[in-house]
Amino acid sequence: MSTTLEASDTTYQDRNPATGAVIADVHETTREELDAAVRAARKAFDGGKWSSMAASRRAKIVYKMAQLIGERANELMMLEVRDNGKAVSTAKGEMGAIVDCFEFYAGAATKNFGETMPPPLPTYLANTVREPVGVVGAIIPWNFPLLLASWKVAPALAAGCTVVLKPAPSTPLTAIELGKIALEAGVPEGVLNVVTGSGRELGQWLVEHPLVDKIAFTGSTATGKLVAKTAADTVKRVTLELGGKSPSLVFDDADIDAAVAGAIYGIFYNAGQACEARSRVLLQKSIYDRFVAAFVEKAKHVRVGNPEDPQTHVGAITLREQLEKIESYCAVGSAEGAKALLGGSAPSLEGDLAGGMFWNVTAFEARPEHRISREEIFGPVVTFVPFETEAEAIALANDSEYGLSASVWSQNIGRANRVARALRSGTVAINTPYAVFPGVPFGGYKQSGYGRELGMETMRLYTETKSVLTYIGEKPMNPWSL
Ligand code: NAP
Ligand code: MG
Repeated sequence: MSTTLEASDTTYQDRNPATGAVIADVHETTREELDAAVRAARKAFDGGKWSSMAASRRAKIVYKMAQLIGERANELMMLEVRDNGKAVSTAKGEMGAIVDCFEFYAGAATKNFGETMPPPLPTYLANTVREPVGVVGAIIPWNFPLLLASWKVAPALAAGCTVVLKPAPSTPLTAIELGKIALEAGVPEGVLNVVTGSGRELGQWLVEHPLVDKIAFTGSTATGKLVAKTAADTVKRVTLELGGKSPSLVFDDADIDAAVAGAIYGIFYNAGQACEARSRVLLQKSIYDRFVAAFVEKAKHVRVGNPEDPQTHVGAITLREQLEKIESYCAVGSAEGAKALLGGSAPSLEGDLAGGMFWNVTAFEARPEHRISREEIFGPVVTFVPFETEAEAIALANDSEYGLSASVWSQNIGRANRVARALRSGTVAINTPYAVFPGVPFGGYKQSGYGRELGMETMRLYTETKSVLTYIGEKPMNPWSL
């Protein structure tokens, strides 16, 4: 942490969801301390040391962060595994993606170009410059703690912003490390501030704070709506990465084995606790039975259990409330008449893991109107729904309040691209379950949010456009000849 806050006596216990063991006592930030963190960020921004630093120098510091994260990847990975409960194989991939993200935005820092306009009049020169938006409040959920923090912190720092980073209460540990890494890399004091706490109010206070210029939020759609409403009072810039109910569309001309494997990964990766989880599988009728049988058979080989075992595919469920939500959705599915094909229960694990929170990978045959086909469960639960025609598949896929991601499985390049174009979705992946890269924008249509993360587009969302108009006539402009 780069603020100089005095530690208070108040802490809360942070647990490992796989065992229930307390792994850290974490500082409970007070409102006064949050205010001090925002003021530190404001002072650092207004002081100009970071925001006015040569972009090439800022780029080197952001790149140094990438290097330090790379050097500490194993340690950060294990911290994430113990804090969040995710499988170590999943966390390992994230660490690579985090390094890539910081590297990408280190490069972006020197490419934050403005434009030169055609002269509006012969005597004018008009150009724009991109200036950092100011103090950014970054609010993070618990499912990909360091990854989603990186998606905000890396472009914000590269653009010259200062940041107050608020991780989720259950997974604060890697954010704290990121603060230390920033200082070690040469980020000046006050530029990146990390605030931890277990109450609801921290995020709310950050969104209300008059000295914060922008909120970059990732979390649930319900909270995102509150954030947008609260931010309106101070006309803050807001970007929202919210929930999803993302479909996989599998056509009869797909490579079915590949589609089955992709659909399994697409929903069960990170225990389904992913905003872009492909939680609805829409299947052309002619391949429905074959696909479902193969899915159920293959999914039996998905290993649920000890997150620290490199062979594990699916680790723990991060929160007690989340486990209860998954359990209750499985009950709702059965009560509504969906047919359970797989899972639907907690595994019985032994030893330390007996105190942990786990759920077996679960699949239902469902109808599109069933709640489990429409509402975000955020767990390892998938529904299968049949369709006849391409038009019906598109209509089913788009019949959702969300529009974050989709996968299209077809060997017909024309069809795959036709369908991709028709989907109201921020990302469409063709013949692949997840495809997230630092250079490619990520974000939602509809109630999955607005704004984008990743890609150069994101740099724009951490900057303001300033138009500079220069009069180049022989004497300065004197409109009334006074
Ligand atoms: P959440 O309950 O909305 O919380 C997200 C963050 O917001 C937490 O840090 C939370 O802190 C904070 N928060 C809560 N109330 C707030 C308020 N009134 N004002 C400001 N901040 C507030 O979501 P979650 O349960 O942690 O995460 C799961 C959700 O995130 C899912 O819906 C998932 O789809 C979505 N998600 C989306 C993306 C994406 O990129 N689109 C990525 C990952 C996850 P406290 O808990 O301390 O209140
Ligand atoms: Mg934890």
